[in-house]
Amino acid sequence: MGRWSHSSRLTTEDCKSISVKFLKDHHYFDVEGIRHGGMNWSRGGVKTGSISFTVSTIEGDEYIRFLYTQTDNHSGEKTDLDYKVRLTSTPCHFGGRRWWFVCPLVVNGRDCNHRVGVLYLGGGKYFGCRQCYNLTYRSSKEHDKRVDWLRKHPEVFESYLKSNDLNKHHLLLKARFRL
Ligand SMILES: [Zn+2]
Repeated sequence: MGRWSHSSRLTTEDCKSISVKFLKDHHYFDVEGIRHGGMNWSRGGVKTGSISFTVSTIEGDEYIRFLYTQTDNHSGEKTDLDYKVRLTSTPCHFGGRRWWFVCPLVVNGRDCNHRVGVLYLGGGKYFGCRQCYNLTYRSSKEHDKRVDWLRKHPEVFESYLKSNDLNKHHLLLKARFRL
């Protein structure tokens, strides 16, 4: 199943996220200082979650402090979270500064510290980058070279149909219905 494990990975669209762009669009970076705010997530018009946060753009102490309650999917147990994620900025070519989150996660005993534009609530309690949560973009997940090949070789369909290999059936479905 190794080759197929990636197809069961969560995609970035499956996860709650917060982007630097959202903060920028809502003027959190306009002036040096501290601002409180929050955001809601929704899917299909139904609210699925919310967080509060504080953004500090004070030079030398740039951070976003997250405040939210995480409910465990399995046990239903609620945890109140309150922690800071470092913000950093780099100069833009055309003036101004571009802001980034610094991923706070520790994976295999190593600090990630990646500079990213989006943080995800992956499968964990904390916000982290796409790499730490091993998330895949839906577009890259959909592109499957084997499907391309299968579409060009319709004579193979028949043998795949007779096969007991579920992976081959899955490929057939993808090729036929352009999934
Ligand atoms: Zn990370």
